[in-house]
Amino acid sequence: MEVLRLRYYSELFGQKHFNDSRSAVRKRRCLAMNPWIAKALVLAGTVVLIAIRAPHGRRSRRVKVATSYKTPLETGLLVLAWVGFFVPLIWVASPAFSFAEYALRTGPLVAGVICLVIGLWLFYRSHADLGTNWSITLEVHEQHRLITQGVYRRIRHPMYLALALYSIGQALVIPNWVAGPSNFIAFAILCALRVRPEERMMVEEFGDEYAAYSARTKRLIPGVW
Ligand code: SAH
Repeated sequence: MEVLRLRYYSELFGQKHFNDSRSAVRKRRCLAMNPWIAKALVLAGTVVLIAIRAPHGRRSRRVKVATSYKTPLETGLLVLAWVGFFVPLIWVASPAFSFAEYALRTGPLVAGVICLVIGLWLFYRSHADLGTNWSITLEVHEQHRLITQGVYRRIRHPMYLALALYSIGQALVIPNWVAGPSNFIAFAILCALRVRPEERMMVEEFGDEYAAYSARTKRLIPGVW
């Protein structure tokens, strides 16, 4: 009798355990989403980014450069940034990085979309505030004005913060170890090697005005750094 009861319980709990693991697998499958959602988001983000930049790029080409501070290092950094920008698009369009794929989950996807949206908004705002003073590389234009208002009021590099958020968003949204962090890695290297030369250039051009602006602002994160 006792033996029968034990067998009954073990079968019962064994079955329960079996059911649990089956439902866990089902649940995991539900949470693992189709990467096409990520591909659509990456494409949409890229289109918005290009749409924000395009008019400024066209206008910037018409503005005369007063002094260029472009070095070979700066050229290399720009090439790196382009590579980081294109790798996610190659992931969207081809199976080139399929060896590095992992399951797409709801949590990182939602966090990534939030980063992408805030990043794109800040990108739009910083372009609007910089206006004709923006350029893709280190240079100063004729009639260059120092901007210290709008999103430039508390931090000196809101556009870099915008692109950092955008690239973190991509890293969270893209379920691929190569294409996901590519933009972030390239951009982190660019930021690390560009911020100081850019600030030196601004001090050379704007002197005390930029020094005072630096003294009351942070670089990337308001109140922190
Ligand atoms: N680092 C800034 C701007 C990036 S664009 C940001 O992240 O928002 C780079 C060009 O912007 C530089 O070549 C410089 O000419 C110009 N620039 C940078 N800060 C500026 C400012 N506060 N006012 C005007 N021009 C600025």
